Amino acid sequence: MNSLIPLINQAYQYKNKVAIIDENGTYTYEQLLEVSASIAQHLLEQTGKTDLNETRVAFMAMPNFYYAAIQWGIWQAGGIAVPLGISHPIPEIEYILDDTQAEVILTTHLYQDFLAPLAQNSQSRHLLISNVETLPRQSVASAKLPEVPASRRALIIYTSGTTNRPKGVVTTHEIIRAQITSLTTAWGWTEHDAILHTLPLHHVHGIINILYCSLWSGARCEMMSKFDAQKVWDRFTQGELTLFMAVPTVYNRLIEFWNKADRTQKTAMSEGLKSMRLMVSGSAALPVSVLLKWKEISGQTLLERYGMTEIGMAISNPLLGERKPGYIGRPLPGVEVQLIGEDGELITGPDDMGEIRVKSPSLFLEYWGKEVATKGCYDDGWFCTGDIAVRDKDGYYRILGRSSVDIIKSGGYKISALEVEEVLRKHPKIAEVAVVGVPNDQWGEQVSAAIVAQGRKKAIMLDELREWAQEFLSKYKIPTAMMVVNDLPRNAMGKVTKPSIVRQFQQKSK
Ligand code: ATP
Ligand code: MG
Repeated sequence: MNSLIPLINQAYQYKNKVAIIDENGTYTYEQLLEVSASIAQHLLEQTGKTDLNETRVAFMAMPNFYYAAIQWGIWQAGGIAVPLGISHPIPEIEYILDDTQAEVILTTHLYQDFLAPLAQNSQSRHLLISNVETLPRQSVASAKLPEVPASRRALIIYTSGTTNRPKGVVTTHEIIRAQITSLTTAWGWTEHDAILHTLPLHHVHGIINILYCSLWSGARCEMMSKFDAQKVWDRFTQGELTLFMAVPTVYNRLIEFWNKADRTQKTAMSEGLKSMRLMVSGSAALPVSVLLKWKEISGQTLLERYGMTEIGMAISNPLLGERKPGYIGRPLPGVEVQLIGEDGELITGPDDMGEIRVKSPSLFLEYWGKEVATKGCYDDGWFCTGDIAVRDKDGYYRILGRSSVDIIKSGGYKISALEVEEVLRKHPKIAEVAVVGVPNDQWGEQVSAAIVAQGRKKAIMLDELREWAQEFLSKYKIPTAMMVVNDLPRNAMGKVTKPSIVRQFQQKSK
């Protein structure tokens, strides 16, 4: 029995191929179809329904075969899948359960004790189903499953919560298909690809760009339960992988690990990376220093791309052709992009900054339960991203940051925090840096830098930093406040949560 759900239907043609390898075993596409059909049937039996018809089913599982099987099971029963991150703190999970009004929580034995109190406590009661690993296998043909149209709501993914409370982004099976096909075409996925997966699965990068693109292509996805630089390098060194996708902090940690290896190890590590046909970075700005170092290690120029939960991937450096350091590339096929200046004017010149606005088949359907917020994202049919960029003469976009936290308005100037960070990162005493605008009576906002010192011990003073920076930055862009911290605050995607840095500066000056 084929399915009307595009991603699941696609899997029938790869039945005997390996779909997923995890720490417990190797699973074919047929096994994925069978186990997910069993889960779907069980869900229907437990809820007493013949079609879940957009019931929200929240689920929590290790990033392994069962994660994919549970997720497909929810779809095959007609429900909307709501992934819960395994690292989410309890209030965050309660927020998602309440916000989506999930009726069912699906999990494995691993999380049943953790989730049981939540199934009772939150505003509405949830049915907890936790024995999915031991269900009797159902042949796909014998399972009595509803016909789920591709237009049905499929997934609610929460935004990363970098700037505010996470918002539940709804996509249909059709939209997911558009997001997948856009990427698999642009990046040349085939069934011969093998990708190593180390990212959280409750965000678009991990679930769409890696897991679904792999399953759509008939490729092999190796799921690692947790990012571990040693284990990742071990897999790289075996030279069996063709693809890797990660956030900049992951590349940074892989570089740190590489730096500590001896010369023979380094040679083997670099050698192993020769099997890679493409390595991608996204979700946050890729520092040029990381791109250059990675090139030195691997010979590979990282492909940087840009997207968000609401729009899928929109702009990407090319698979073939020039990948410009510091740039996110050009619009993906089928995606229209405009830059709109502060006064609503269309930006055409290469030096003027504007907000990225997008029209694309990959756009989300709505924020769950937030009609006003959904409408508020659009202007004249264009989705307003809130990200500020410039476009060069070749049509390549360069991100200057989010209008809300990265574009600092100080003394009448508009300053890109990302540009200042890129410069400060070159200072030998600086390991990591985040630049923010702290509200200030005199300047409007004060350019302020939170710094993690290189080697942790080397002291760095503001005066010294300011003097050094004069060579690279106009005076008004140079930070006038500085704070040395042990670590930058980051969310599950490794993104720096700038509002909390602003609060730290404000507390410090009290
Ligand atoms: P929230 O919306 O909850 O504040 P978030 O915007 O971080 O969180 P996501 O949808 O996961 O949630 O991330 C999308 C954002 O990530 C984009 O709007 C953009 O600011 C940033 N981003 C993605 N790719 C890049 C990139 N290559 N360079 C710079 N920023 C990027
Ligand atoms: Mg956002």
